[in-house]
Amino acid sequence: MNKRLYNKIHRRISKQIKIGSVKIGGNAPIVVQSMTNTDTRDVMSTIRQIKELEQYGCELIRVAVPDMEAAHALQKIKKGIRIPLVADIHFDYRLALASLESGVDGFRLNPGNIGDREQIKQVVLAAKERAVPIRIGLNAGSLPKLTGANKPVAQRMVAAALEQVQLLESLDFDLIKVSLKAFDVPTTVTAYQAIAVKIPYPLHIGITEAGTPRTGIIRSSVGIGALLYLGIGDTIRVSLTADPREEVIAGYEILKSLNLRQHGPVLVSCPTCGRTEVDLVKLALQVETALQKIDKPVKVAVMGCVVNGPGEAADADVGIACGKGKGVIFRNGKKIRVVEEEDFFEALMTEVGNYVE
Ligand code: SF4
Repeated sequence: MNKRLYNKIHRRISKQIKIGSVKIGGNAPIVVQSMTNTDTRDVMSTIRQIKELEQYGCELIRVAVPDMEAAHALQKIKKGIRIPLVADIHFDYRLALASLESGVDGFRLNPGNIGDREQIKQVVLAAKERAVPIRIGLNAGSLPKLTGANKPVAQRMVAAALEQVQLLESLDFDLIKVSLKAFDVPTTVTAYQAIAVKIPYPLHIGITEAGTPRTGIIRSSVGIGALLYLGIGDTIRVSLTADPREEVIAGYEILKSLNLRQHGPVLVSCPTCGRTEVDLVKLALQVETALQKIDKPVKVAVMGCVVNGPGEAADADVGIACGKGKGVIFRNGKKIRVVEEEDFFEALMTEVGNYVE
């Protein structure tokens, strides 16, 4: 892959922490995470969903902990999964303490609603005893009430996060990760840019409540993509009103778009135009579906004519440049055969199969 010379992104180097076995920050790969949407108290359904997400490449999973029954269920869930488990805590610090007892690998606290300093202190000391990292997870929609009511939201998020960071540091705790999410992309980017130069800790990035897949993936890609391009972000979640598998797929596509991770195939396909003389849309969709079954990194190009076709197809690991009734198959930049239109799909996928083997 990447036969041409491409520009590289220079990442902000943060202090590395470990959530379970997964490294976050420093020079570790940017981690893709998601959140279950099952009832956490339904242990079997939650484990089933997490296992499905693991298969899609989810590396860290967060679950909601709305009550004590859910906090206790985490113990069984933890035993049934392989990836690290993070508890999402709102409103009641005792849920954080119970989640720690259940053996979670990390948890997220929302300082806007978790309680007073004394309660947070109890949680921090318990986390310190077990070396369990805490994410200070700010959301624009639930900022602490006293944080500069007249200031812009991004500034208020940063101020609230810094206050919590200082509280944790004053308790000699530094297994910290921070997130500052808003629905508004410029607000989110501004907030992360500001905090990135103020603290050494890893940052979890995302656009909160981004919406349904059609618009939410675009909004998330713009926000997360802008931050990653600035070198900011150690772990990502694409928040979608959808099956969480969509979040994981979208997360990897964002990282692959910026050459920050390799994960399964990459499909290059031309947009078609008046020069296209074959049903390229159908062919590209067929290839896309077939590539979903492959988990190895391979760059495949499906091109509609001889203008950009040979160049892109040759730059890919395997490619086809289609002309009227015939197409040229490329592998590792070399033309290897000419095929008839009815054989385009079979011939291309045979070469892809040979390549990944
Ligand atoms: Fe048109 Fe050819 Fe470009 Fe495809 S590769 S959009 S067919 S010019």
